[in-house]
Amino acid sequence: MSDIDTVLVLNAGSSSLKYQLVQPDSALVMAHGIVERIGESEGRVELVRGDDVTEFIGEIVDHQAGLSKVFELFSDAGHDLESEGITAVGHRVVHGGPRFHRPTVVDDSLIEAIKDLEDLAPLHNPVNLLGIEAIRRLLPEVPSVVVFDTAYFHGLPEHVAAYAIDRELALEHHIRRYGFHGTSHEYVSTRTAEFLEADLGTLNQIVLHLGNGASASAISGGRPVETSMGLTPLEGLVMGTRSGDIDAGVVMYLKRAAGLDVDDIDVVLNRRSGLKGLCGENDFRALIQMVDDGDPAATLAYNVYIHRLRKYIGAYMVTLGRTDTIVFTAGVGENNAKVRADTMAGLENFGIVIDTERNAARSREPRIISTDDSAVTVLVVPTNEELAIARQSVEALNDDR
Ligand code: AMP
Repeated sequence: MSDIDTVLVLNAGSSSLKYQLVQPDSALVMAHGIVERIGESEGRVELVRGDDVTEFIGEIVDHQAGLSKVFELFSDAGHDLESEGITAVGHRVVHGGPRFHRPTVVDDSLIEAIKDLEDLAPLHNPVNLLGIEAIRRLLPEVPSVVVFDTAYFHGLPEHVAAYAIDRELALEHHIRRYGFHGTSHEYVSTRTAEFLEADLGTLNQIVLHLGNGASASAISGGRPVETSMGLTPLEGLVMGTRSGDIDAGVVMYLKRAAGLDVDDIDVVLNRRSGLKGLCGENDFRALIQMVDDGDPAATLAYNVYIHRLRKYIGAYMVTLGRTDTIVFTAGVGENNAKVRADTMAGLENFGIVIDTERNAARSREPRIISTDDSAVTVLVVPTNEELAIARQSVEALNDDR
C-alpha cells in the first residue's frame, strides 16, 4: 500500500452511480466516471483518466455489477484497484435525520440506522445504501465512511429549524428543517475565505448552490444560520424538477380536487415541477436557448427561478445584518453568467455592483465578479463535493482509530 491516501468517492442514485478516485491531500483526481442506466438492458460505464476515456456498453444488472465493471476498466488500463491501495471509500448519503451530524464509519449498525431513516428520504437514502452494500461486498477490507448531506446544518438555530406546526407532532416525527447540500455549502464557504485570505470566523456569507438541485444558505462566522431546504430537499428555491416553496395547501387541494394520492403528489412536486414543470425542460443550457428563442413558457420558468432566488437573497441579507460575500456555485451558478447578472441586477442600493466583464469571464478557479468598490464581494467558487467527502472520510477514519 502506498503512503498517500487515495479515496474512492461514491454517489449512488437509483439507476446511476458517480464515482471519483481522489487524493485528499493534493486534491489530485486520479480518475472519475459514471455508471448509467443500471437495471436496463443497455447500461453504460465510463472511466475517465486524464484525457483518456474508456467505456463499457451492455447490461448492468445492479450497482455491484456496475462497480465490478468499473474495476475491470481500471484493470484493462493496467491498474488493479483491489491491490493498489484505496485507503477508504467515502459515500454521500442524503439524509442523516436527527441522529447523524458527523461523517460516520460504516458498520452493520449504521446500515440499519440509515434504513430506519428511509421514511424521511424515501427517494434518496435507499439508493445511497445500494452503493454502500455493493462496495462492502467488492472491497470488504477497505473501510467505508458515510458523509451526510444534512450534517453541516445540524446546528441551525432552533427558531430557524422549527416549522410553525403542532409541536408535539413535530417532535414525535422529527419534523424540522434539516437542510441539504451541506458538504457543498461548507466547502464553498471555507474555500471562499481561503481565496479572499480572510478569517472564516469573521465573514458573513450567502452561498447559492445552483445545480439541478438548488439551495441557498446564510453562514455567519463559519456556522450556518439559515438554509433554504427543509425536512426534505423539496423546500426553497426553484429547481430542475422540484417545485421548491409551495403553499402546503396545494397538497391537500391536489388530493381533494385532482384525486391524486400522496405518492402521485410526491412525483408531481419532486419530478414534474420546477423548471421542467413550468416549461418541459430542466437542463439550464437548453432552457436558456428556449428563452433566447422567445419561448413564453421558458421565459416564465426563468423569471420564476430568478424571482425566488432574489427573494431568498433579500431574506438572508436581513438575517445576516451585514453581508460580506455572495457566492455562486454548482452547474448553473458556476457556468451561467446571465443567471448571475439577472440575480444581482439593480441591487446597487444594497451595496452589490457586478462587473460585467469579470462576470462574463470563464474559469474553473474561484473568482470575484463584483467591482472593486462593491460593498458586498460577489464571487464564483466552484464546488467540489467529492474532494470534501474524501477529506472528511479520512478524518473520520483517523478519529476512529
Ligand atoms: P449540477 O447539478 O451542479 O451538475 O448542475 C446541473 C445544471 O447545470 C444543469 O441545469 C446544466 O444545464 C447546468 N450547467 C452545467 N454546465 C453548464 C454550462 N456550461 N452552462 C450553463 N449551464 C450549465
